[in-house]
Amino acid sequence: MEKQVAIIGAARNSIGGVWINTVETTKLQTPKPAFQFSDFPWPDSVPELFPNQFQVLDYLQSYAHHFDLIKHIKFGTKVLGIKYQGASDEEMQSWCLWEVEMGEPFSSRGKWVVEAQDTQNLSTEVYQVDFVILCIGRFSDVPNIPEFPPDKGPEAFHGDVIHSMDYANMDYESARDFVRGRRVTVVGFQKSAMDIAMECSTANGVEHPCRVLYLTEHWNVPDYNPWGVLLPYLYLNRFSELMVHKPGKGFLLSLLATILAPLRLAFSKFFESNIEKKLLPHGFYDKAEEGSIILKKAPSFSFCKGDIKVQGEDTPLETDLVILATGFQGEKNIKDIFESKTFQDHILGSPDAAVPLYRECIHPRIPQLAVIGFSESVANLYTSEMRCRWTAELLDSTFKLPSIKEMESDAAKWDQYLKRFLVGITADLASVPSIYGIMIRRAKTWDGTQRERRDSLLNRLSST
Ligand SMILES: Cc1cc2nc3c(=O)[nH]c(=O)nc-3n(C[C@H](O)[C@H](O)[C@H](O)COP(=O)(O)OP(=O)(O)OC[C@H]3O[C@@H](n4cnc5c(N)ncnc54)[C@H](O)[C@@H]3O)c2cc1C
Repeated sequence: MEKQVAIIGAARNSIGGVWINTVETTKLQTPKPAFQFSDFPWPDSVPELFPNQFQVLDYLQSYAHHFDLIKHIKFGTKVLGIKYQGASDEEMQSWCLWEVEMGEPFSSRGKWVVEAQDTQNLSTEVYQVDFVILCIGRFSDVPNIPEFPPDKGPEAFHGDVIHSMDYANMDYESARDFVRGRRVTVVGFQKSAMDIAMECSTANGVEHPCRVLYLTEHWNVPDYNPWGVLLPYLYLNRFSELMVHKPGKGFLLSLLATILAPLRLAFSKFFESNIEKKLLPHGFYDKAEEGSIILKKAPSFSFCKGDIKVQGEDTPLETDLVILATGFQGEKNIKDIFESKTFQDHILGSPDAAVPLYRECIHPRIPQLAVIGFSESVANLYTSEMRCRWTAELLDSTFKLPSIKEMESDAAKWDQYLKRFLVGITADLASVPSIYGIMIRRAKTWDGTQRERRDSLLNRLSST
């Protein structure tokens, strides 16, 4: 019998997701061979290794046209909520549906009811489907705004406070006009913060330097092309997977990983030697040295009438405009889509663990549903494609899911494994599986001298 599958993620009016509204000068951070569909190479007209946002958008749109996908998409449709019909909340708390169904993707017991809203005329429509695939990303739509004590938040401030998302919604000229001649403070030290600070410093120069308030320094991998060798050739292929000890490996594969350990070390040394030469993100610290970007470490800050105040300091920082590059609440977005409180609790899992997804796709206790694109990696197109293929095979019943207990235990093992290798690594990399964990762990251990160099540079460049 024919089954209905709903793929959720078309709230906007065209293909591209986060790439539709990005800070205009943003480029891909991943080299394009690692950000590529396996059956659709980048065109020759894009020679750049790190294409800009327009080229990325073009590439994604061409993919959809090439495979004639547009006809399957209902753009401008925001899903307000999904509800599982066929079981009460009490049943949902105690059941083990995938297991009852012997690991089958579909069930005769229940369906998902999807309530969708047309973003133009706000009319709603309800669909009943057998399986839901959530592809709602984690870097869009719900901004993460820091919390402030009463009367010390943006409401106390006389200038403008916007989120990086609002900034990204402007085109380059409008954004430049908006910041020009203003004393801008950017909060954050991740990719968006750096891109915005670069644009502000270009608009205002040293006359009105852009201040960057940051809580934690980050290692920014300068490029993915050490000594001319693309990093994926070292780390993102089937052979490199063999070099890593991972949960669930048998004796022979573990032995092989041990035998290959010297090679793994050699790869890491090779990469390190390149990072030592190019420690800094391109152009950013030049701007800091020239004085058009001022870096300032701030454990926390609050707003007062005309300025902002850094915790522990008496003199306020003169500011006209604050741009919060403080990320997104991806977890809230995914949680809120479930109408059931039980599923809301399930999807978030415990506060000290990552969202518990078996194979980064399936929540063991939420039936007939897959999540793709929530677990981020350094090469998202590649990993999402693999997960899509895996899910498609599941839907085709090529294989069956293991029991709930097995899925939970597998997800927990991976969570432990990632924590072991990725302590202190940025949130967007926190779910990177396999060899990247090793690479990053190496970066954690080798960086004694490098960390000193970076910190001394940051100290030198930070103003009080
Ligand atoms: C500035 C920036 C730079 C990045 N650079 C890289 C990079 O270099 N390399 C890399 O691998 N990754 C990068 N990423 C990560 C990026 O998120 C992924 O590469 C990829 O674009 C994610 O695609 P996605 O379709 O999973 O999610 P998204 O692109 O976020 O798309 C999700 C879509 O779902 C929609 N949606 C949300 N909620 C609903 C709902 N309730 N109903 C319907 N639709 C909904 C959203 O509006 C959005 O259009 C970057 C992200 C950002 C923000």
